[in-house]
Amino acid sequence: MTDSAPITSDVRVRIAPSPTGPLHIGTARTALFNFLFARHVGGTFVLRLEDTDVARSSLAYEKDILDGLHWLGLTWDEGPGVAGEEARGPYGPYRQMERLPRYAEAADRLRAADRAYPCFCTADELEAERKRLEAAKLPPRYSGRCARLTEAERAAFVAEGRWAALRFRVGEGVVAFDDMIRGRVEIDVANIGGDYVIVRGDGTPLYHFTVVIDDAAMRITHVIRGEDHLSNTPKHILLFQALGEEIPRFAHLPLILNPDRTKMSKRKSQTAIGDYISEGFIREGLVNYLALLGWSTGTEEELLGLEELCARFELEAVHKGGAVFDRERLEWLNGQWIRRLTPGALVERLQPFLEAERVAGRIDRAPSEDEILALVPLVQERLPVLGAIGDLAGFLFVDRLEIDPALLTPKRWDTATTRSGLVAAREVIAAAGSVAFEADELEPPLRALAEARGWKAGDLFMAIRVAVTGRTATPPLFDTLVALGPERTLARLEAAIALLPDDPT
Ligand code: GLU
Repeated sequence: MTDSAPITSDVRVRIAPSPTGPLHIGTARTALFNFLFARHVGGTFVLRLEDTDVARSSLAYEKDILDGLHWLGLTWDEGPGVAGEEARGPYGPYRQMERLPRYAEAADRLRAADRAYPCFCTADELEAERKRLEAAKLPPRYSGRCARLTEAERAAFVAEGRWAALRFRVGEGVVAFDDMIRGRVEIDVANIGGDYVIVRGDGTPLYHFTVVIDDAAMRITHVIRGEDHLSNTPKHILLFQALGEEIPRFAHLPLILNPDRTKMSKRKSQTAIGDYISEGFIREGLVNYLALLGWSTGTEEELLGLEELCARFELEAVHKGGAVFDRERLEWLNGQWIRRLTPGALVERLQPFLEAERVAGRIDRAPSEDEILALVPLVQERLPVLGAIGDLAGFLFVDRLEIDPALLTPKRWDTATTRSGLVAAREVIAAAGSVAFEADELEPPLRALAEARGWKAGDLFMAIRVAVTGRTATPPLFDTLVALGPERTLARLEAAIALLPDDPT
């Protein structure tokens, strides 16, 4: 089992989501790659919640993230407990707001060593400075105004009642590291925007600082995260060095892109995993698809389950270029995984979706387990997502079918032909059905009817399909009639005939 894999190596990776929004597809992909890497090498997968942005963090988002990761099957070896369980692991607590004394202690250390200094610049002053640089078309950068204040000057600011933020002194030189995906990265410290704030004036520590303290404290060996963090990495490396900590290895994953190659964002695209779950993507399909967002086996193989992904995943094989999100491919993969479910599993997974159809008033009653089981052969190969079940088979569970009369008449037919087609079909179905209401009994006489009248069988079948289901796309027609049963089939044909004018001439 992947979730209880033995730890056989010193490799330790982490996913460090901020609970400031629901589980994002990018976070899920990053979590998956960390998980696969850890499982592949027998390492430890840690989950840490970066909740220091108190104003934007919420417990509801935290729950959405933890539940979503569990749902995907990405269980962590160490991390916060869920649903009343104890946190797991020797390096807790795993919520940053419960780790504040650790950051304060490290901040004191950097301050005492003069690697960090108090900065009294006000927000207005910093904003004016930013605007000046912008007007001069220069990148934002801290001027260093407070970098060399004397103790007396600092005391004067404090006496004025100014709060001091703590800024990290970046110094000079080049930060270089070997990214496991991107190769050698070298950044001149002169280009990282000057000394940066690690603790705000109100005492809250910032991400660049907390992430380093925690990665060090939690003995993280490999930091695997999105490429949007690449420009943060030099800032982190400088802090690891200043704190005398070992620097982990880094691997920056390609961004997930919209089809127009812009960065996938929640404004433009559906990014919350919860929305994909609500549509009826299944974990097998989503996990498989997420794994292929920026990685491939190097072969044509596409259908890979979690176990197999754990066995095959190689961080070095992750692509450098952006990974374009392809909804069609996701649906195709998901459909493939739906086909692989056992009938019992599919019934279980369809149930909540049928119940949702009932609650929304789109069907009149939720079918029993046995009824869903009977449906499985009709729908299993036709569901890109579980949520499509309503469109595909909801007509079976409505008392009164609403039919759009315009849909009833096939393209090549007029209403008179449709009417006589349905009248004749009703006779044939009633007669054939009295022998046995089975697909094999119904199909031949209906084909014979079409032939006798010089109709294309497809047109006649389409008219019948719309008459009994209200839709043009359904499971195979004769199976559909059998599923409806003789009474409802004949009654629906009757009702459809009544919608067509008796004598259109
Ligand atoms: N909390 C950060 C985020 O959500 C973590 C980034 C990192 O992995 O260092 O993006």
